[in-house]
Amino acid sequence: MICPFCRNDDSRVVDSRPADEGTLIRRRRECTGCGRRFTTSETSVLLIIKRSGATEPFSREKVIAGVRKACQGRPVDDDDLALLSQRVEESLRADGQAEVEAQEVGMAILAPLRELDEVAYLRYASVYRNFASLEDFEGEIALLRAAPSNKQSSNQYSTTSSTNNSQTLSSSSK
Ligand SMILES: [Zn+2]
Repeated sequence: MICPFCRNDDSRVVDSRPADEGTLIRRRRECTGCGRRFTTSETSVLLIIKRSGATEPFSREKVIAGVRKACQGRPVDDDDLALLSQRVEESLRADGQAEVEAQEVGMAILAPLRELDEVAYLRYASVYRNFASLEDFEGEIALLRAAPSNKQSSNQYSTTSSTNNSQTLSSSSK
């Protein structure tokens, strides 16, 4: 690791500690040249296998770019998108695999996007899951109605009974 101050390529580790619930290691290093200290972080690379078979590192930015269009005109801001991409990464890493198919990333986006905004979710799902007819939309909307996500259920109770989704998630900070 090259020292950011003097470009010396040797340093010694003076402290190591896990962060982010163990998915990250931070190391405090001291340059053997100039003696200054700096911090590095080490995380396992989550590889995405594209349809072509090529791999690339998971990117939160790409997740955001993928859903941004579906969120156009909706009350969704950059913080919401940043949090969504973080949740997508966490859910993919929680599966404990070092490599995941690009398709799984799309799947992992669906649940948090639905909680964020149901219209954006519907737009995204229609493209991602290739809705081909009005029936596809109707089916998905029926599902949304049957089990409204937490955020939406507070201001539009439907007559259908859904039992398990009222108070389980921590409330959004908005
Ligand atoms: Zn140095």
